[in-house]
Formats: sequence, structure tokens, C-alpha cells
Amino acid sequence: MAEATLIDGKATAEKLRADIGRRTAALTAAHGIVPGLATVLVGDDPASRVYVRNKIRQADEAGLRGVTQSLPDTTSEAELLARVRALNDDPKIHGILVQLPLPSHIDADAVIDAIDPDKDVDGFHAINAGRLMIGRPGFVPCTPVGCMMLIDSVLDDLTGADAVVVGRSNIVGKPMAQLLLARHCTVTIAHSRTRDLAEVCRRADILVAAVGRPRMIEGGWIKPGAVVIDVGINRVAAEEEGKTRLVGDVDFEAARKVAGAITPVPGGVGPMTIACLLQNTLTAACRINGVAVPD
Ligand code: NAP
Repeated sequence: MAEATLIDGKATAEKLRADIGRRTAALTAAHGIVPGLATVLVGDDPASRVYVRNKIRQADEAGLRGVTQSLPDTTSEAELLARVRALNDDPKIHGILVQLPLPSHIDADAVIDAIDPDKDVDGFHAINAGRLMIGRPGFVPCTPVGCMMLIDSVLDDLTGADAVVVGRSNIVGKPMAQLLLARHCTVTIAHSRTRDLAEVCRRADILVAAVGRPRMIEGGWIKPGAVVIDVGINRVAAEEEGKTRLVGDVDFEAARKVAGAITPVPGGVGPMTIACLLQNTLTAACRINGVAVPD
């Protein structure tokens, strides 16, 4: 059997960002609206700093206005909630993102609850989770949205396909399953208590792995010809002494010999996430101002 088609998330994300740039320019030209994305960072976690910097840089490159509010890790929950409420009331801000994880003295759920659902471009608010569940327009978490775009890049019709999502987190697994269900897949959500995970995975025409365990999904667990989307980002020791590298939740080298199409790690799902965040922010700016999203 031929090797799987490689799903190039980096190229797809670049194309999407260029498209968002073009549509943002059209919005600004027609209505004078510049979509504003505010990211709030509490503390100085180095990984979070890098994520936030990348989000703001890519927002600015696409013609949005990215702003960061950096707060010390001594910030109280009440102070953070006041910040969020001020951003809710700021007409220049259309998307609000509070970078997680937050310091342990702050209740992340309380902070997410405080974000105006119509500015919740991460799609983490319970109102948006509910909207997704019952098929109403809202904001869907960026990583699963990116996964759907990658699936759509290799499959014309998902109707009736057996889809298996391994992982049931609120930010990836559960919304991913909802999106696949909305596209008429027969969806199974697997997790750490699933019996005979290998057998469940072997049924999947579409297999999405969002676990956080390096190369857990073996080649022999993949149905021949399946579309495999690997969300996992795991740092492992590289062959070279003292170096590390990123791998997914799927044993890529084994899986590519069986799958029909597969995302690599890095360069698969990862780059799509920020691009989808920008798309959500553009959508938020249009909805808040009551104008159509430019084609
Ligand atoms: P999470 O909240 O830790 O959830 C992990 C899920 O995997 C849980 O539902 C857990 O089951 C399940 N699981 C753990 N061990 C398992 C096992 N042995 N067999 C089957 N299921 C198992 O993680 P997450 O936030 O969803 O992230 C998952 C992975 O995606 C991580 O590697 C993360 O870094 C990556 N990620 C990537 C992006 C991106 O932009 N590419 C974005 C977000 C996350 P239980 O519920 O039973 O505990």
C-alpha cells in the first residue's frame, strides 16, 4: 500500500492567515473596523509568554490589532476579573483570551465565566460549549476547528464515517466530537478508561488523537486508509545526547504506512490553532458590529 498523504498544517495555516488578512482589510476598508484581540497573561511562565507573543504577532500581521495585558503572578482573582470586565466593555476589543494555565490561587472557571461569550474567541465559555452542543452559532475552540479544516482538506464527505476521538478534554476532545457529529459522523469518544482502545481505534475512518502521551497510538491500531489527525504535542529525548524533539500521540512512522492521510508533528494541527483564533476574532468583530463577514 502507498504511504499516507501528508496533511500540511503549516501551509494550510499560512493560506488561512493570508485569507483572514484579505478579509480583514476588506472589513476595515468598508466599515472602518479593525478587529481587536486582547490577550491577558498572568505571571511569567516562559511557554505562555511565547504563545501569547506568537498570537499577537500573527494577529498584527493579518491586520488585526493585538494587545497584551501582562499582569504579575501576585494578581488577585478580583483584579483579573475586573480586567476582563473592562475588556468586555471596550468597544475596540472584539476577542478576549486569558492565557491558561493561571496561577493556582485563581479559579480559571470563574475567569472564563466572566468573559463576554460574544468575545470568547477561545470558545471556552459554557455558553459557547452549549451553543456548539445544540448547533447554534457561537465560538468553537480553535484547535478542533483547525482539525476539521485539515480533515476537510482530504475528505469530500464525512457523512456516515466512523470517527473516533481519543481524549475528552473540554478544549479539544469534546468539541472535536461535537464538530464531527454535526458533520454526520458516527462518533466514539475514547479516554483513559476505554476498554480495548486498540480495537476502538481500528474502527475509525477518522481518528483524532488528543491525549498527550508520546506515540501511544500504534500503526496496528489504524484502519487502512483512515484519516489520522494527531493533536498531541509531546517533548521527548532526541537520539542526539542532551537534545529533545516534539512528537505526537501517534507513532507517525508506523501509522503513515497504513493511514490514507496523516498530520505530522510538528507542522500539522499546531499551526492551525492560532490561525483559527484570528478567524474567530474576525467573526467576533463582524457579529458585534452587525456586519457580514467579508467573503
Ligand atoms: P488533557 O486535558 O490532558 O486530556 C487528555 C485526554 O486524554 C483525557 O481525556 C484523558 O482521559 C485521555 N487519556 C489519557 N491517557 C489516556 C490513555 N492511556 N488512553 C486513552 N486516553 C487517555 O489534554 P488536552 O488539553 O486535550 O491535550 C491533549 C494533547 O494535545 C496534549 O499533548 C496537548 O499538548 C495537545 N494540544 C495541542 C494543541 C495544538 O494546538 N496542537 C492544542 C491543545 C492541546 P481521562 O479524561 O479519562 O483522564
